[in-house]
Amino acid sequence: MKFGVHTSIAGGIDKAVVRAEELGCDTVQIFSSNPRGWKARELNEKEIAKFKDNLTKYNISPVVIHAPYLINLASPKEDLYQKSITALKEQVDRANKIGAQYLVLHPGSHTGGGVEKGRKRIIAALNEVLSNKQLSFQILLENVAGAGTAIGTTMEELSQIYNNLVDRSQVGLCFDTCHGFAGGYDLRSEQEIEELLTVIDDVFGLDKLGVIHANDCKGDLGSNKDRHHHIGQGKIGNLGFEKLVNHPQLKDKPFILETPIDEAGDDEQNLAAIRDLIK
Ligand SMILES: [Zn+2]
Ligand SMILES: [Zn+2]
Repeated sequence: MKFGVHTSIAGGIDKAVVRAEELGCDTVQIFSSNPRGWKARELNEKEIAKFKDNLTKYNISPVVIHAPYLINLASPKEDLYQKSITALKEQVDRANKIGAQYLVLHPGSHTGGGVEKGRKRIIAALNEVLSNKQLSFQILLENVAGAGTAIGTTMEELSQIYNNLVDRSQVGLCFDTCHGFAGGYDLRSEQEIEELLTVIDDVFGLDKLGVIHANDCKGDLGSNKDRHHHIGQGKIGNLGFEKLVNHPQLKDKPFILETPIDEAGDDEQNLAAIRDLIK
């Protein structure tokens, strides 16, 4: 099975791969630029070449890029909406350049504009970004915890976006366990996991489930609180993660940790904790 961690790109994207190797990752997730800034620093050719060399040398794949948090394709504000589309196009170009396999995106928050209007804006934005583009990777819509006016908590909500895209071939799903649990999916229950996978298969097809974000959850089931916790120490607990990592239909999926770093060594601990659950 493949496990990885979201690692820092401080000092260059190539350094993120070195960090991943030091942690013992099989796969890795990064931001391709500052996640809280609009302006993305230009990646130079040398840095990209080194990044790719490191991936080969350390046998790390797939590469997952997480889109910046500022991007909001559901925004009712025209300036922010246009800025978000431009920023996503830029992220798409960067993902192509560095040879990523996936670009993970939170669908967006309607911030008072209403769910339906927000959803329409997300669909229009994605259609624009994908039009006449042949990507070497997939854009993965990530389920969210459902805080505030965020869209995409349930698979049904995500399906209403996905089913209205002109080109679905380049879009898939990233399932975040913390967001899922906070959004109402009881991942401690074998039956609920089965039901969830059935819905995912019906909506997207299980092969479109590109990445699992494996995060334990501080909040209660259905609390809509996006608060990640260490594997086994949250409300999903080992009870849930044991079922997830041993599920035959999830065995080939990359599991990426976005768990907190409260102390040095926490990433190593969390990786060990989740790997320990494999039977
Ligand atoms: Zn996530
Ligand atoms: Zn989260």
